[in-house]
Amino acid sequence: MENFEGFQLNRQLLNAIQDSGYQSPTPIQEQAMPLVLAGHDVLGIAQTGTGKTAAYVLPILMKIKYAQGTLPRALILAPTRELVMQIDVAITDLAKYTDIRHVALYGGIGPKTQIETIQKGVDILVATPGRFMDLYLREEIGVKELKTLVLDEADKMMDMGFMRQIRKILEVIPSKKRQNLLFSATFPPRVEELSHEFLEFPTKVEVTPQATTATKVNQKIYELPNFKTKINLIGVLMSDYQTFKKVIIFCRSKEVADNIFKFLERKIVAAGKVRVIHANKGQNTRINSMDAFRDGEVQVLVATDVASRGIDIEEVSHVINFDVPLIYEDYVHRIGRTGRANHNGEAITFMTISDEYHIQKIEKIIKMKIPREALPQAGLTIEETPAEEQKAMLREIDNQRKKEDPDFKGAFHEKKDPRARAREKAKKQTGKSPEKVKAAFKPNGRNYGISKKSGGSSSSRGKKK
Ligand code: AMP
Repeated sequence: MENFEGFQLNRQLLNAIQDSGYQSPTPIQEQAMPLVLAGHDVLGIAQTGTGKTAAYVLPILMKIKYAQGTLPRALILAPTRELVMQIDVAITDLAKYTDIRHVALYGGIGPKTQIETIQKGVDILVATPGRFMDLYLREEIGVKELKTLVLDEADKMMDMGFMRQIRKILEVIPSKKRQNLLFSATFPPRVEELSHEFLEFPTKVEVTPQATTATKVNQKIYELPNFKTKINLIGVLMSDYQTFKKVIIFCRSKEVADNIFKFLERKIVAAGKVRVIHANKGQNTRINSMDAFRDGEVQVLVATDVASRGIDIEEVSHVINFDVPLIYEDYVHRIGRTGRANHNGEAITFMTISDEYHIQKIEKIIKMKIPREALPQAGLTIEETPAEEQKAMLREIDNQRKKEDPDFKGAFHEKKDPRARAREKAKKQTGKSPEKVKAAFKPNGRNYGISKKSGGSSSSRGKKK
């Protein structure tokens, strides 16, 4: 949509929008506003900075129209005092040509002024769950007229332990004819659960951090022949701890995560500077690891897909996809963890021949081609691909082709010499044959803590020759 005139907003709001300098709606506004205006429950996945506040505030102002009675008709809950104040300021700006009354309720200061404002009559409450409940229990807040409820930054509210309070609030406010809106930056399972409890037939709108992807995150792909070379490259990169300051390495399985962790801990990074999180680690261990990483005590966090859903760590220097994510949207979410708030970040993806298919799909989603970069020359040992691993990759490629074309019979058995292909690939990347590369950097014959059985993902598991 070109401008805000296309929404069913009144003149007062359109004038305020113009004063705010908004020329055209942001993607979340374009998607969410018509739904909210039509009275639907909406689940919005959007981060701060996307214009999500106006996406729900404008329709709420439209619905409330003008000051009426004394009891509030809309309640917006947000996790922190800062966010509550920020939302309240947005309402002040956008409601400036209306007589709508609103108040920000948060802790850290005495409630007297807040109570006085409520008593004078108020249309919209913006509150932290704690202060809302506190004033409700003192019988300072009448909830009978509440017809719209917003939970903003739901993921953060849950991280901060507000779930019980939110449930209580949901119990005390009338549910009949109530419109519910839930906004969250991420969509981990617990937010999904909450959305089922709280929303009725919601429409989900999502703005992935695609803009961020294209602008601030430098993305690249390293083409690698096999699992062991991937491990070698992790070693080379992580040794440069001044560049790779705060890194998350994503991989597909617990075994691979544990192996990368052991390898880095034993040979590459300083003591205590690497942690691993996956489903087998207890909740407390995971939380401790994430806190240590967030605080900068830990340089590298190795994580599986499962454990990484809903990780709310931002501003990492590098995201490394040791394995290409098979849920393609995860790529966008993963790399969204870097390059936030004007920090430049880098997202590096390791690609074997059997990953090319998945990369193409990802490139379609992000609407750009991820640049392929030459492998770092210094210190990297290119390993020969074990026959088993090569076979597994070729089989996977066959399966991918079959998926695209059910008539495809499979080319795997026709391949003359799979290893020749791998050699060619390595040669193309380095300009040298694997043997020469190995000679130049001296084969070290190290095991890297990868046992024959547990090392490697399903696509890249191979026996040591
Ligand atoms: P939010 O994601 O709601 O925190 O908004 C981020 C910033 O974007 C705020 O400073 C808003 O004032 C601003 N903003 C919201 N909508 C628009 C728009 N349509 N055009 C330009 N700026 C906007």
